[in-house]
Amino acid sequence: MLVVMKAHATEEQVRAVCERIESLGFKAHPIPGSIRTAIGITGNTGAVDIGSLEAMSGVVECIPVSKPYKLVSRDVKQENSIVRIPTPLGEVTFGGPAIGVVAGPCAIETSEQTFAVAEAVKKAGARLFRGGAYKPRTSPYSFQGLGEPGLKILAAVRDKFGLGIVTEAIDHESLDLVEKYADVIQIGARNMQNFSLLKRAGRSKKPVLLKRGMSATLDEFLMAAEYILAEGNYNVILCERGVRTFSDHTRNTLDLSMIPAVQLRSHLPIVVDPSHGTGRRNKVLPLSRAAVAAGADGLLVEVHNDPDRALSDGMQSIVPAEFAQLMVEVNQIAGVLNRSLN
Ligand code: PEP
Ligand code: MN
Repeated sequence: MLVVMKAHATEEQVRAVCERIESLGFKAHPIPGSIRTAIGITGNTGAVDIGSLEAMSGVVECIPVSKPYKLVSRDVKQENSIVRIPTPLGEVTFGGPAIGVVAGPCAIETSEQTFAVAEAVKKAGARLFRGGAYKPRTSPYSFQGLGEPGLKILAAVRDKFGLGIVTEAIDHESLDLVEKYADVIQIGARNMQNFSLLKRAGRSKKPVLLKRGMSATLDEFLMAAEYILAEGNYNVILCERGVRTFSDHTRNTLDLSMIPAVQLRSHLPIVVDPSHGTGRRNKVLPLSRAAVAAGADGLLVEVHNDPDRALSDGMQSIVPAEFAQLMVEVNQIAGVLNRSLN
């Protein structure tokens, strides 16, 4: 259910409606828009008695939301949400006219490797740095990440280079630490339906980058995001990272049609990860260009200074010179769409 307020409804009127909703045992989510505020109602298992709400001052109408997702839906908020990430180098935004780029290695391996990549991606123009301190690996014998010492290396990268930090949390324990050290909490493809982790991320004050599960449908992807918003965290960036198909020339099939499909239904920004999306270094540049051309709000790219010796995902990691080229070409394509890189 959605309560649509009048364009000039006062703050007190919005507050009174929220209080009435809460007194009925539901949760109220006031979502200010450029023209008017809408209030989403969650926590209801059946129909909400709208009679008393519709009569309240400042209310235009109550609309039942038929889609399974509510807060992520454009029904609740027509204009795009802009997720703002403050960094020492300035704010990076996702969802506005500017395109955000996150770059860095798959995993934090050593401070030397991390600093080398950070210096290079910063020079090429990136302002957000990625790298996993916790790695969800298919094999328990593969490198699992450095854990908290890896997060400390990332914090040192922020101090030295001014880059904002995006890193993955794989469970509640790592999320407690990631939210202390990072600027954005990444929830990986393998955890897209880890509902208790999604709820925990929803209670965080840090923005969340949510990756599409490798076999998730559009509705499942949006419902996963809904879990985060329903807990009160509206700063969610969706990430298309490819799904599993029968194609075997790539690791995954990057589903760029997800971009307009999400944009039709949701106000949340969507970025593309062409590295996991293809699994092959030589496909990262063309698919980055295509993602921006298709309307992506940002890119997440794996870059390594010595990919042949990387402890994870070396095959899909590009080298700094290739990343610099990518930034130039993507910026040119963004320009055609009257956008530019953040
Ligand atoms: C990653 O970003 O390094 C990662 C593990 O991605 P995904 O969850 O998309 O596999
Ligand atoms: Mn990776």
